[in-house]
Amino acid sequence: MECNRHYAPRIVAFGPHMLGPVLLKFGSDQQKNEILPRILSGEDWWAQGYSEPGAGFDLASLKTRAERDGDHYVINGQKTWTTLGQHANKIFCLVRTKQDGKPQEGISFLLMNIDLPGIEVRPIRLIDGGHEVNEVFFSDVRVPVANLVGEENKGWTVAKYLLTHERTNIAGVGISMQALEEVKALTRSVRRRGCPLIEDPLFAVRIARVETDLEAMKITNFRMLYTAQKQGQPGPETSILKIKGTIIN
Ligand SMILES: Cc1cc2nc3c(=O)[nH]c(=O)nc-3n(C[C@H](O)[C@H](O)[C@H](O)COP(=O)(O)OP(=O)(O)OC[C@H]3O[C@@H](n4cnc5c(N)ncnc54)[C@H](O)[C@@H]3O)c2cc1C
Repeated sequence: MECNRHYAPRIVAFGPHMLGPVLLKFGSDQQKNEILPRILSGEDWWAQGYSEPGAGFDLASLKTRAERDGDHYVINGQKTWTTLGQHANKIFCLVRTKQDGKPQEGISFLLMNIDLPGIEVRPIRLIDGGHEVNEVFFSDVRVPVANLVGEENKGWTVAKYLLTHERTNIAGVGISMQALEEVKALTRSVRRRGCPLIEDPLFAVRIARVETDLEAMKITNFRMLYTAQKQGQPGPETSILKIKGTIIN
């Protein structure tokens, strides 16, 4: 495996951790029984097919089409920024199943194998030379209608639910806490003007600030779990976690 400084955090941030809660809430019994154990065992690696060229922040403008043909959908279009798609054996995608009306009301959430005929995963080389993200092309890809999560044209609700979990993951509180411990250990051995760097008051204040922020985020994480248990889904605190977590990361 190539060295990539983005790699480790992304493994924990994507795919299974987000699809699991989605299936628990919206999946059919068959999907839960078949897919969840394989997520737990690590047999399946799910990539996320949301973004498209021209559909990033304005995700609802996505254009990848899924047209009904009997008990299958036929998929045509393109996804982009697909994290670690080169390692995935599965992909969940937002697809357009209705052309007219409000854009959000014509989107469906579809599961598929990433090695189906007509799917091509191409690497995007990042400025640091790393290969973390990909483009995924779909031409006449046939996917069973049974692979729909939730109802046809109701995928926007599923997509938003998934994003609440993605925000919490991206916050990376645990990873940042671990990194902070490493910094503290390192700065006990690094010396400045004869003293351990960690004893430098200005440096210690900076460490303490980050540590305080991380403690607050840990508590916010617990609040998110409490809300999810009580109300059936996470609340707006996931957005706080994502914004603050991204800054600390
Ligand atoms: C490391 C990484 C991994 C990713 N992995 C995945 C993945 O696995 N799967 C996936 O589906 N996506 C993935 N993404 C995509 C990510 O979710 C998108 O980058 C995000 O949705 C933003 O889209 P964009 O980059 O196309 O930005 P754009 O939508 O082009 O926006 C660019 C800028 O324009 C601003 N802007 C956009 N529209 C408006 C508007 N109407 N008014 C005012 N300002 C506007 C935005 O605020 C932003 O600052 C990944 C991205 C990154 C960086």
